[in-house]
Amino acid sequence: MSLVQQPIGIIHTPYKQKFAIPRQPGLVNSALGIIQFLPEFNDPNILRGIDEFSHVWLIFQFHQTTEQGWSPLVRPPRLGGNKKTGVLATRSTFRPNNMGLSVVEFVKVVHQQGKLELHVRGMDLLDGTPILDVKPYVPYADALPNAKGGFAHSSPELMAVTFSPRALKQVQHFAQQYPKLTSLITEVLAQDPRPAYRADSEPNKVYGMSLYNLNIQWQVIDGCCQVADIQPHD
Ligand code: SAM
Repeated sequence: MSLVQQPIGIIHTPYKQKFAIPRQPGLVNSALGIIQFLPEFNDPNILRGIDEFSHVWLIFQFHQTTEQGWSPLVRPPRLGGNKKTGVLATRSTFRPNNMGLSVVEFVKVVHQQGKLELHVRGMDLLDGTPILDVKPYVPYADALPNAKGGFAHSSPELMAVTFSPRALKQVQHFAQQYPKLTSLITEVLAQDPRPAYRADSEPNKVYGMSLYNLNIQWQVIDGCCQVADIQPHD
């Protein structure tokens, strides 16, 4: 049996590359995402009533890793990247059917010039990710206070983030174009996006990450992250 899935829309997010995207939703709330609906689903009736919910589920395709296929065993970053776990016991992207599931904050519906958009906050999705479905988050059924979280029982510890004097001037400049840029960079880096194996083996390494069209350079010194430089991509 085979099933063919059709995206209903595409989400646009500040995350232009996989590196440094938060590993789950709700960790970086300054990140705004805009779902633009594809022509067949570009009907405002499809979202009527959604504004009565504070959060929605997004079901999506891990489109950038689909071609790499799936693996029965994966190494979750939360376990330091060296302990193997069954893929279905993780939220890894390398899974059969490559489907992702994220609960995000509802912001607003926009319907202008015949184009329907759903604005959300706090997603962990790459820019351009195909959205397969949207469903309201229903607290009485979806929030389970006594649930066990396995190896991911609590949110990751946060890292302190500072800006060099140069980066501080740069972020203030680019914030005119990208509102909430300082909080976005701070919240993303506080998650410590470094691959677990590098954090120990390459201390003080300078990393680059892309948010919007900006290349942001940073390094971790004595457990504290410093943003060093922010430049637009060419
Ligand atoms: N919350 C979702 C879930 O549990 O299904 C996603 C969890 S997954 C661990 C989150 C990571 O997926 C992000 O940090 C990013 O590296 C990766 N990712 C996000 N969007 C993607 C896409 N469209 N294609 C491939 N990888 C993606």
